[in-house]
Amino acid sequence: MGNKERIFLASPHMSDEGYEQGYIKEAFDTNWIAPLGENVNNFEKEICEVTGAKDAAALVSGTSAIHLALKLLEVKKSDIVFCQSLTFSASANPIIYENATPVFIDSDRDTWNMSPKALETAFEKYKEKGIKPKAVIVVHLYGICAKIDEIAEICKKYDTPIVEDAAESLGSIYKGRMTGTFGDYGILSFNGNKIITSSGGGMLLVNTSDSKEKAARARFLSTQARENKRYYYHKEVGYNYRMSNIVAGIGRGQLKVLDKRVEKKREIYFHYKEAFKDISDIEMMPINDEDTRCNCWLSTILIDENSKVKPLDVILKLEENNIEARHVWNPMHKQPFFEKYDYIDNGGVGEYIFNNGVCLPSDTKMTKEDMERVSNIIKTLWD
Ligand SMILES: *Cc1c(COP(=O)(O)O)cnc(C)c1O
Repeated sequence: MGNKERIFLASPHMSDEGYEQGYIKEAFDTNWIAPLGENVNNFEKEICEVTGAKDAAALVSGTSAIHLALKLLEVKKSDIVFCQSLTFSASANPIIYENATPVFIDSDRDTWNMSPKALETAFEKYKEKGIKPKAVIVVHLYGICAKIDEIAEICKKYDTPIVEDAAESLGSIYKGRMTGTFGDYGILSFNGNKIITSSGGGMLLVNTSDSKEKAARARFLSTQARENKRYYYHKEVGYNYRMSNIVAGIGRGQLKVLDKRVEKKREIYFHYKEAFKDISDIEMMPINDEDTRCNCWLSTILIDENSKVKPLDVILKLEENNIEARHVWNPMHKQPFFEKYDYIDNGGVGEYIFNNGVCLPSDTKMTKEDMERVSNIIKTLWD
């Protein structure tokens, strides 16, 4: 059994049509092998068309997009930034790049994402100290939509901009609108494990009323903050964050199959849901299908804390069978580097999800047989 072909959590999946190679070939044919060119410009345009964002800047990563969002919001030394605790460290690292101070916010049991209640508590706590945070970073983990309208309302009340980390949720729709378009800034990632990949890359979505200027400023900062003069002239520090024209070509091709990928990811989720329906210890991640469409980037389950089967048992059992599975993100306030920062608790939801969650293989190249292979192995743990 162990020598069967490996099943991955989520691996790159190029289009059957070869769209990506078409765009790359154009770049080669015209010698636009540079961090600028038609693919970069068009990728930004096409992302705006697909998501409904007002403007976008193509960058080297999702992390650099969060960093520039914080730069555009003028986050500076000692400023406070509220950030969802249950997430990948990339959501929080850019706060540290600017020497600002994160305050971590616990999640909500219904969405696994930022708890509006804990967010309000955080605003009140800091208001008492006379401190207004510079930004709130909210994440749509695994493609599950956060309660973004409630969060937006609270942020509006406290006059604080939102950076929406949609790195995992491209294609997820909340009440008719794509995630990444609710915050002043949204960010996407095209890393190798994401729902579509450009081998590595990211996008800053700009949704502000002055989106043209802000997107232009993001492009300026991403190209070393070089002033428009005949000679090299720099009034501020810049970054080498601009996406390459080759990478953008891959991204453009991948964007054409986004809907197909979402469909397949959801098929995988519903396969697991059906397969585990008689195992009362297993709870599927909440996808709130009434008013949202989850892209189901990773199908994730919670195992009842009193179950004889633990998340690690599932991971090891699958590993024995050459199948990849993983723990859920470990909350930031539990990380040695970040534990010194303030944390607003909502009953330990993030820790509960980390302790009891498992991310199951959600690779879009999986066949029906692969899905059955995975779910049957997991089911044997409850025999
Ligand atoms: C992947 C990811 C990022 C970072 O994106 P990169 O392109 O890898 O820099 C940020 N936030 C979350 C939640 C992610 O999953």
